[in-house]
Amino acid sequence: MRDRAWAWVGSTSSWVALLLGALTAVGSGLGSPGAAAAECPGHPNALGTSRVLVVDPQEHPRIGAMQYKETLPLRDHEVVLTFDDGPVPKYSNQVLQILADECVKATFFTIGRQAKADPEGVRKLAAAGHTVGTHSQNHPLSFNRMTLDQVKPEVDQGIASTAAALSDPSALSPFFRVPGLLRGEAVENYAGTLGLQMWSADFLADDWRSISGTKVYELAIKRLEARGKGILLLHDIHARTVDALPKILTELKAKGYRIVHVVAATPDRPATPTEPDDWLVHRPSDETPVAKWPAITPVDLAAADTRARATLDDFGVLDPLPASRAAPKPAWPRPALRLQTATAPALPAPSADLFAWPPATPLTAQRRQVARVERPAVKPAPRPVRMASLKRR
Ligand SMILES: [Zn+2]
Repeated sequence: MRDRAWAWVGSTSSWVALLLGALTAVGSGLGSPGAAAAECPGHPNALGTSRVLVVDPQEHPRIGAMQYKETLPLRDHEVVLTFDDGPVPKYSNQVLQILADECVKATFFTIGRQAKADPEGVRKLAAAGHTVGTHSQNHPLSFNRMTLDQVKPEVDQGIASTAAALSDPSALSPFFRVPGLLRGEAVENYAGTLGLQMWSADFLADDWRSISGTKVYELAIKRLEARGKGILLLHDIHARTVDALPKILTELKAKGYRIVHVVAATPDRPATPTEPDDWLVHRPSDETPVAKWPAITPVDLAAADTRARATLDDFGVLDPLPASRAAPKPAWPRPALRLQTATAPALPAPSADLFAWPPATPLTAQRRQVARVERPAVKPAPRPVRMASLKRR
């Protein structure tokens, strides 16, 4: 591993040091509080970027409400734009121009082979001040089944190819998104050893499907409105996305949404202060449409648009429900259900008066059970280990 150009990725401190150099190289806008619309030259009505959110991948290694318990600590009406699968000059350049016209910063997850084919395209992303992460070398839609030996070259080469394309390889951010969001234990563990932050998403706009740009726009806004904030996953390789993006940005502005630009922490730029709870996913409603992802065959990178031609039959389930709702409870047997309910920590201890009558009656078996519930000893301790348990995922 050490003989590879990207070996420095294996050391978080090296990563951070190199990234720090990159941040000064790609422009002061990256570390600024954000370009307000009023600061967007020639575009007085631009949406702008409201703030920069600095995140520490080590503290929060897996994010995205679609698949993880944590997501970015966004405030209400804050949106993070992400674009996968590029660069493809025909479309990526248009996406860059649309974002520039609105002074909006985004995060791009590049495919290694695309970066090798269009290294100038990768440099344009960084030069424009966007965050650049990676998305594997060849975009195999099998990460959920891959062994560590299969995962490593895909992740490593994707990083190497993108880093090689950049004028300053350290401009690459330690952010990684699994192709097709097909998360798996091997890739998650390996990403952890590299100090990468795994990015799922909070909502999709289905722009890989054969739908119109208008439909992409409608889905993006509808799903954002359902959540109120979040990470939107788009692709900078489709005409329909190019068509939808200006309308999406215009609507975001009209509805009072604000764009947040996400960058990784460095020694000189600590993570934005947050509370642990800020990162926890809180689903807004069970009525939120559950987005699916197409489980299509491996991508033909020479014809990236073919990825859009998934049918409904190709869809896999990538938005698992919480365990409590994942499957209906069996009607029978329901062992110890009453005791579990009675000892749930959310329930208040019963009033002592409840047990005061008849005072002289010996405890029946039923009352012994209730009495056990009353004793505070059965209450679980507070859960200070919550964050630690999250990190074990
Ligand atoms: Zn992809």
